[in-house]
Amino acid sequence: MILGQISDIKQILNSPKDIVIVPHRNPDGDAMGSSLGLYHFLNQNEHNVDVIAPNDYPEFLKWLPGNDVVLKYEEQMSICQEKIDRADLIFTLDFNALHRAGDELGKAIETSKADKIMIDHHQQPDDYAAFTYSDVSMSSTCEMVYNFIEMLDQLDKITPEVATCLYTGIMTDTGSFRFQSTTSRTHRVTADLMDKGAVNFQIHNAVYDTNSYSRLQLLGRAMQNLKVLPEYKTAYITLSQEELDTFQFKKGDTEGFVNYGLSLKDVIFAAIFIENQQDAIIKVSLRSKGNFSVNEFSRAHFNGGGHTNAAGGRSHLTLKETVDKFISILPHYKAQLSQ
Ligand code: 5GP
Ligand code: MN
Repeated sequence: MILGQISDIKQILNSPKDIVIVPHRNPDGDAMGSSLGLYHFLNQNEHNVDVIAPNDYPEFLKWLPGNDVVLKYEEQMSICQEKIDRADLIFTLDFNALHRAGDELGKAIETSKADKIMIDHHQQPDDYAAFTYSDVSMSSTCEMVYNFIEMLDQLDKITPEVATCLYTGIMTDTGSFRFQSTTSRTHRVTADLMDKGAVNFQIHNAVYDTNSYSRLQLLGRAMQNLKVLPEYKTAYITLSQEELDTFQFKKGDTEGFVNYGLSLKDVIFAAIFIENQQDAIIKVSLRSKGNFSVNEFSRAHFNGGGHTNAAGGRSHLTLKETVDKFISILPHYKAQLSQ
């Protein structure tokens, strides 16, 4: 769905503009890949482009070309605020509601005079942008940025930097091209990105084969904590703050852990509950196979959302209370989970 005309965007981008690009809070590979991919694309013209991440992101993304130019709103608030106030255009990437950029940054974007352009594949997008390119069938926002560049008739402007960033986000959001959202078109886009300079094995290596020893030990603990509820085809994992501290947890260390639950034979619903004492919340990540919508489940019970098969949320109860609540809800979904 595109509101507003692509020809209007072409017109706007015809002359130099102050442009800000914002991914969601706790940015993942798709959020940073799409933001930096779009950054490198737009930066070839006379525009003045900035990427403002709401907060820090994992080490395994810090090799991305352009990483050094990324501003962090949480750490550099006044300079970020200036850029937002001055912007003619703000791209919001890989999120569907302004609060997903964080409450303060979300408000700053909302009140800025800039025209907003949303590019996103999450369900139920809010209506805040002058141009909304939302498509929940897409594998990733990175694939949509590729489509956006195609709509502008500028695929020839995909440099190796753009290609590398977009490949990264497609790879991470599709679980390395294996989730249901991966289409033949996704592979065609990926192939073109390789032709344009994305080196697939180097990207996989940089993202997936740079583990710390302590992260693998933490994964070991998570696997010991894995519980299965065969009646509901459900598996869940818990990690307490104490366990995270024992294994020197760093941002991004638990990325992908929830998928191990889903890899069990006959399991179609997996959850991980991670205690965060600093924010006084339990971070909830949910994954499913088939039609069971974790987006709906998260919206209904854990103040979150996302996609049909991948969603996140939070709980303000204790870790144990959160798990008890989760288990007590499952009987309501028995029909859907036992199909
Ligand atoms: P994760 O479990 O990896 O944090 O998130 C899975 C998916 O759900 C991601 O696409 C993420 O953007 C989305 N998501 C995570 N947390 C939230 C949330 O609180 N609200 C919404 N709307 N989406 C979320
Ligand atoms: Mn995404």
